[in-house]
Amino acid sequence: MLSTMQDAPLSIATLLRYGSTVHGGAEVVTWTDFGAQRRSYAEIGRRCAALAHALRGLGVTGDQRVATFMWNNAEHLEAYLAVPSMGAVLHTLNIRLFPEQLVHVANRAEDHVIIVDPTLIPLLAPQLPQLTSVKHVIVTGDTTAGLEAPEGVQVHAYEALIADQPTEFHWPEIDERSAAAMCYTSGTTGDPKGVVYSHRSIWLHSMSVCMTDGMALRQGDNALAIVPQFHAMSWGLPYAAFMVGASLLMPDRFLQPEPLVRMIAEARPNFAAAVPTIWQGILHHLENHADDVSSMKTVVVGGSAVPPALMHALEEQHGITVLHAWGMTETSPLASVAHPPSSATGEEAWRYRYTQGRFPAGVEARLVDDTGAVVPSDGTSVGELEVRGPWIAGAYYGVDAPEKFDDGWLRTGDVGKITPDGFLTITDRSKDIVKSGGEWISSVELENLVMAHPDVLEAAVIGIPDPKWDERPLVAVVIRDGSDVTPTQLKEFMVGRVAGWQLPENWVRIAEVPKTSVGKFDKKRLRTQFYDGELCVEHV
Ligand code: AMP
Repeated sequence: MLSTMQDAPLSIATLLRYGSTVHGGAEVVTWTDFGAQRRSYAEIGRRCAALAHALRGLGVTGDQRVATFMWNNAEHLEAYLAVPSMGAVLHTLNIRLFPEQLVHVANRAEDHVIIVDPTLIPLLAPQLPQLTSVKHVIVTGDTTAGLEAPEGVQVHAYEALIADQPTEFHWPEIDERSAAAMCYTSGTTGDPKGVVYSHRSIWLHSMSVCMTDGMALRQGDNALAIVPQFHAMSWGLPYAAFMVGASLLMPDRFLQPEPLVRMIAEARPNFAAAVPTIWQGILHHLENHADDVSSMKTVVVGGSAVPPALMHALEEQHGITVLHAWGMTETSPLASVAHPPSSATGEEAWRYRYTQGRFPAGVEARLVDDTGAVVPSDGTSVGELEVRGPWIAGAYYGVDAPEKFDDGWLRTGDVGKITPDGFLTITDRSKDIVKSGGEWISSVELENLVMAHPDVLEAAVIGIPDPKWDERPLVAVVIRDGSDVTPTQLKEFMVGRVAGWQLPENWVRIAEVPKTSVGKFDKKRLRTQFYDGELCVEHV
């Protein structure tokens, strides 16, 4: 029997229409060299219509890919909304990819148009001659900033292009399963792989972001979107903000602790989202500067495991509640959030909050062992996490990757355990686990312990070969300036907090942990540095 309900498609155009009318007074504020540049959602709606007309004029008449090579800003938000709403596909290019990876993904996606910020032209221009499908480059702002395009490519200035266009657009009705946006994985292992989101998956994901037990984003919030729009769709914040009328604060290229803190003091956001390394930097900065961050109430932190010491410091020193979340480009990305059960208080609540959280109804999860057998979610059994659901990727764009899927489930490559009441703890990426004497050591657990020491700024653990145990952990540690703490003392600090055989005896002091294109610890580079003999290892 069919239902009697209307079959209205879940589309980005409905979000655009709703946000720009009902919440037309909400704002996107972009940080610039000259301070805050404000634009209301009503204005964004009109500019999206103008952009869509302009893109039609450039031959975007179907599902052509319109790529962005941009920081987080109002124009990027306009592309997020206008491109899918007109039936085309938004492709967010990661500005930090290696040149050959950038060429690979833009050609694979067959990008027809690229919208670029003027400050990023030096990164894009040298690659343009190799981008075989690109016909138009649109430079945001009033001028083309001197960009000289190769033959066959036309360059336009964004403002001039949209200036005389109509400010209303007849957004077409679109099958909710069709492609809305695509984003390539960050490519720390192998070539980046394309994930294509549908209108439906983005809609359902946005609802999950806004749910009270999701990120609880709501009307009246002022959300600082630090997580890049080129990485996992800025964790869904742009679409979620239009769904509920939350305002957005966009940091553009000002991503260092000093301007971020100034932005918080002046624009007074109450919500933010970023990877742990950003918060470590902000925390460190605040130790020596008395900036006012009192507006900030909740920050969603994920992308890599959040050290408990960081959660405590933000909460106890600055009154900022950290919501720990887990996800991947392939999971839209929000897939679990650590809200403790309402019955838990005090230490017990903290223990829940340290985990990667609970899955919402839209994400099913299971753990699988080396033989492919499902292991119980009993809070102790460990296995590779597999997930499925309406906003989880079921394939990659244009490539077969059978090893990434298991009978309809996405293999995440993350290893962990799940409690009977559904809380996930990630102990490692499967490739980062240290295998010592046949037993597993969680690199994340060791990192969290070392980073709990007040004189430690960052710590990353990798496995290195050992003649007796096969592998032993090596701790690469960044010690606070002016501290004379030694690896021996750090090891002593860990005694009693981890099994004796797991205590690391290999240490190296470094100035900074290398980071990936999206700000996570780059253990691949750390391993290369070790094998190239660049690390001066101390045995303690
Ligand atoms: P990406 O696709 O670049 O967003 O990377 C996804 C990967 O980041 C996941 O598979 C995890 O390995 C890691 N990750 C994301 N969130 C967390 C978290 N809260 N704790 C530990 N690892 C995480």
